[in-house]
Amino acid sequence: MKKKVYLVQCSYRKMDRSVVKGSSMIINCTLNVPMLIPTIPADWEIDFCLENFTEIDYGNDAPVIFISTTSSDMVHAYHVAHRFKALGKKVFFGGFSDTMSLSVMKLICDSIYWGNPDAAWMGKMLDDALNGSIKPEYQCGINIDFAFDYSVFEGEKIDHLIVVSSVGCRHRCDYCQHTVQYDGTYRLRDIDYVLEDMRSVKKFAGIAAFRDSNFYNDREYTRALCERIIDEQLDMKWGAQCPITIGKNPELLKLMYRAGCRALFIGYESLNQENLKSVNKPSLVKHYKAYTRNIRDAGIYVVGYFVFGWDYDTGESFSRVYDFARETRLSLPIINMYTPVPGTRFYNRLVEEGRVDLPAPEDFVQEDLIFSIPCNSCHYVPLSAPSDELEREFMRLYRKFTAPGQILKRSIGNNIPESIALLKMNLNLRFERRKLNRSLRLKNNGAKIHRPEPVA
Ligand code: SF4
Repeated sequence: MKKKVYLVQCSYRKMDRSVVKGSSMIINCTLNVPMLIPTIPADWEIDFCLENFTEIDYGNDAPVIFISTTSSDMVHAYHVAHRFKALGKKVFFGGFSDTMSLSVMKLICDSIYWGNPDAAWMGKMLDDALNGSIKPEYQCGINIDFAFDYSVFEGEKIDHLIVVSSVGCRHRCDYCQHTVQYDGTYRLRDIDYVLEDMRSVKKFAGIAAFRDSNFYNDREYTRALCERIIDEQLDMKWGAQCPITIGKNPELLKLMYRAGCRALFIGYESLNQENLKSVNKPSLVKHYKAYTRNIRDAGIYVVGYFVFGWDYDTGESFSRVYDFARETRLSLPIINMYTPVPGTRFYNRLVEEGRVDLPAPEDFVQEDLIFSIPCNSCHYVPLSAPSDELEREFMRLYRKFTAPGQILKRSIGNNIPESIALLKMNLNLRFERRKLNRSLRLKNNGAKIHRPEPVA
């Protein structure tokens, strides 16, 4: 068999089923191809496709295909894998993915790989594919100490690109897929490679977004990274995901601002301490306001994530979040109904209690749910309020957050470029609301739109 591999990063579809092209918020997840290329043995030929920019070449003569997806439309990735399988290719799936996507892709792919392969793991997977001894799963571990190949973005117009400084998270929240994969452990990346990647990103995009699930895993590392960015005068703007506890360290926040940090993405999840306790989330609600103020005072915008449907949530939980977001001047509130993620401890508990109401992976594919799981529906039986009340309150809060006056207020930044960036993010939230309305209508109509052909 020819030693050639084709790396395909799938895009996702709009509600009209057309594939999204060009740069978007979600393009930021496309780091799988740049991470894989440096690991491929020199005697293998490489082709790649970033579907956001080019069409997938189903006529490619590579016998081995590596597929990755953003997780927002796993069924599209399934269809892509399905076509390659029908052509007799050996198909792998992996990269940054949620465990639900992995369970769907397991239905069609020859093999799933977990983690971040290095050259040794990649060589083994490719050899196995060539020799007919491919394994259903590969546990590759975390291998991130090398520079990624950002040249794949050459010639494309991109606002911002992701970089990685760590993988895993020190915390063990029961609902989080990172707990499943890393169980409270994390790996910090050699700062030299982070800097090298940031310099690469600068050639293609003005803004870097750290993909780390917890940028604040290790305070001294965060400090050292920021100092290096300042010393080397990288002069880039960037954002990262952190727990709210970073807010208790104003000095570090100021350093981060000097290093270019302009936005932190904080998972508040709930304003009810009982809820957090029930899912092993270590944050303390009593500190939320003060810590958020410290982040804002350092000049850093806050994007806040909230989830509803926890065991102690009632209709009142929604208005509390609305008031909190206004009072703390969140630049962007992102809300979701809780989706039970297979493999997590919370999911397992809900299963034990007979409370999960989630389609099986096979049903996802058959019904072609275009967005992996609509985030405005209860996919489980809530405890403290009926699901229809929670869903109604959820959409009401979404409408309040995306009213034009609210959007404009939240989009006032420290200068014009930052205000434009905030406005774009907030308008995107409004756009998401429209998609949710549409998916709700489809769901209520019982729409089943497309059924893929079975694999021969
Ligand atoms: S802090 Fe965030 S990334 Fe870490 S385990 Fe909890 S939810 Fe997951």
